[in-house]
Amino acid sequence: MAVDFFRPEARRLPPYNAGISAESVRRKYGVAEVVKLGSNENRFGSNPRVVDALKSAAEAPSVYPDPNCTELCELIARAHGIAPDTVIFGNGSESLIEATCHAALATAERVVTVSPSFGLHEIFPLAMGATVEKVPMTPALEFDLPRLIDAVSAGPQMLIFSNPSNPAGCILESGDFLRLISACSPRTLIVVDEAYLEYVDSPLYPNSLEILRNHPGPWLVLRTLSKAYGLAGLRVGYGIASDARIVSLLQRVRSPFSVNSAAQVAAAVALTDPHYLHHVICETRRGRAALFDGLKTLARDFPRVKVFASHANFLCIDTGIPATLVAERLMAEGVIIKPWLEPGYETFIRVTIGTSADNERFLDALRSSGVCA
Ligand SMILES: *Cc1c(COP(=O)(O)O)cnc(C)c1O
Repeated sequence: MAVDFFRPEARRLPPYNAGISAESVRRKYGVAEVVKLGSNENRFGSNPRVVDALKSAAEAPSVYPDPNCTELCELIARAHGIAPDTVIFGNGSESLIEATCHAALATAERVVTVSPSFGLHEIFPLAMGATVEKVPMTPALEFDLPRLIDAVSAGPQMLIFSNPSNPAGCILESGDFLRLISACSPRTLIVVDEAYLEYVDSPLYPNSLEILRNHPGPWLVLRTLSKAYGLAGLRVGYGIASDARIVSLLQRVRSPFSVNSAAQVAAAVALTDPHYLHHVICETRRGRAALFDGLKTLARDFPRVKVFASHANFLCIDTGIPATLVAERLMAEGVIIKPWLEPGYETFIRVTIGTSADNERFLDALRSSGVCA
């Protein structure tokens, strides 16, 4: 069948840089032990309570799951003092980005995001035929507030960005967040992706729900159980919307049974167990500081290497040489990282914070990779 049959928007889509599995690296490079630090997964082991719950929940695979994730929505609503009908769960927060674009965007409508950015913030709008304006981060890899305000002042259909930023690691601080939101027309849908919120320890990080509550236009805040909660393989994320009508609309455009039964059981346990989360957050923050220091020390001898401060479970590094080359050399050492492929950032890599052993392994591999030649 000729591919011209398919929509040009679909044919032109760039592929999502989804990374490579540990197994394929093991096979290709013949390394016994592969450390996967390319996808910001949780490296601190599974939550034992989730594993137990999954075992005893193997009861009823023949029954469809609750399409509305009622129990989960109530959990989130209670935690934030909001109405359960303003909460929506999805098959990963990705699926909610997709549903939002599906519901909100028509051909040639404008979307504003940042660069470098999470690939799907661009790919899903493009799939709808929208045009995506990417506002570059500053050279220090911070949000460029004046340029962002300029871009939203023109009244795009949607503003979407992650805070903390993936892959930059920076945050848009409360004052700046408020200024950006205030510059948005009530006709712009604001989507704030907070996939890494749990890892932030800065007092300047905005309470987005508090700030957005007073905004007259539509908004959606996205969160995920894939990172700090350690459920990436089960695919659970959720959104909190300004209005129950947005939730109802998203429910109608997406597939109805999007969150499977096992995922719902696991999420209910994960969201009500503070111990595992606390452990993961402490270990990640400690590892982040240690790895940042290690990289700073390395960068003293190799000034072309730049490491950027991060509020998330990863660090962004400008290696000064093509990132795909660095990724290749690290894989030969059994370490998977994410080479950034976006125009302007082709020498950047992103590495997930792991256990201290993981982080040491990465630093050793980087030292022997030619980055430090
Ligand atoms: C990892 C990540 C997500 C999470 O996606 P899920 O579909 O929930 O696994 C969403 N947004 C950003 C920016 C991410 O980095």
